[in-house]
Amino acid sequence: MNDKIIWVCAECGSENVHVKQWVELNYKDIIYWELDLDKSDTYCNTCEEHTGIVEKSEYEAEEQKAADALLKMKNEGKLP
Ligand SMILES: [Zn+2]
Repeated sequence: MNDKIIWVCAECGSENVHVKQWVELNYKDIIYWELDLDKSDTYCNTCEEHTGIVEKSEYEAEEQKAADALLKMKNEGKLP
């Protein structure tokens, strides 16, 4: 399996993100969390805030969509 998911900050796209997680104390095993993470349980080291995390592919798709929308507006003369 080579499709490891990379998580990034929802605000800046940084991979330097942390999540609060349940850990089995006696065995140090990570107990997998529900992917429906609460924003306050996430932390971005770049923003230094609880920004929320998203999958990198999702973030990049959103960035692309925003760039496309901007380009479209420019082409339609809606932007100066
Ligand atoms: Zn960030």
